Amino acid sequence: LAKEQGNTYQLYTPSMNDKAYERLNTEQALCKALENDEFEVHYQPQVNIITGQITGMEALVRWKHPEKGLVYPGDFIQIAEETGLIIPIGEWVLRTACLQSKAWQDAGYPPVTVVVNLSARQFLQQNLVETITRILQETGMDPKWLELEITEGVIMKDVDYTVKVLQELAKMGIRIAIDDFGTGYSSLNYLKRFPINTLKIDRSFIQGVVSDIQDAAIVSTIIVLARNLNLKVVAEGVETEEQYLFLRGKQCYDMQGYWFSRPVPAEEFEGLLKRQPFS
Ligand code: C2E
Ligand code: CA
Ligand code: CA
Ligand code: CA
Repeated sequence: LAKEQGNTYQLYTPSMNDKAYERLNTEQALCKALENDEFEVHYQPQVNIITGQITGMEALVRWKHPEKGLVYPGDFIQIAEETGLIIPIGEWVLRTACLQSKAWQDAGYPPVTVVVNLSARQFLQQNLVETITRILQETGMDPKWLELEITEGVIMKDVDYTVKVLQELAKMGIRIAIDDFGTGYSSLNYLKRFPINTLKIDRSFIQGVVSDIQDAAIVSTIIVLARNLNLKVVAEGVETEEQYLFLRGKQCYDMQGYWFSRPVPAEEFEGLLKRQPFS
């Protein structure tokens, strides 16, 4: 049994260890899941706490496994990344989220930025810009309502290449956010070189803001940094009122987290759009 793994072929033998076997299993199951339409996109609102309006919706993929039920990305995204299956899965997520957003805009809901995660493999894909252009055309979605999230690690892999790609995306009117900001290896220098719109403060820092003076200091500093660089700042993983109040006190007005809503299926998200402003 030969199975494609990226650009190399891997031969399955009984001596293969359990972990590799499990991987191969997951890979095959993911292929089938793509064919059988087993993926689903859930959306989590980003809320502007001054207006109470939903300003963004982050698309988060789930796998509706026929036996296991709902499987979360933590259990399959890494294997999808390593096998290259993240490319077709990611395209499907982007198309689905754009179609959904377009449908809601056409139905008269106030427009909301669609936020889509891009993995390293996706970002480094040669025809990324063409793929995104095609999906925007096919779905009729206005690029100014699309925000792509990439991590510092992805950005720093090949800085010259990153500058080129981000400039092309920015020219199209697409927004760029740095996900998990503060957790990766990067230099502040790139904030100057790259056309970035948003910094997203990682959940690990938000978790500690009320109990840990170092987390509080880091979060406060990121908020000021973003303001001084004229970037939008979004706090992710806001779970409690104390965290919410801390962030509000630091003049961070865009938030995402369970305190507002968990990621929910499209029908439920439409319910959230209907009962705005959020409170
Ligand atoms: P992420 O991009 O950092 O997304 C935020 C994760 O935190 C999501 O987990 C979300 O459900 C969770 N979250 C949001 N608010 C809270 C909160 O208040 N408390 C806690 N404890 N968690 C919160 P999820 O959906 O399991 O996704 C995990 C990761 O998988 C994402 O992290 C992202 O890196 C990746 N991922 C998800 N969907 C996609 C996708 O379509 N493409 C790619 N490339 N990666 C994806
Ligand atoms: Ca994200
Ligand atoms: Ca992430
Ligand atoms: Ca995160």
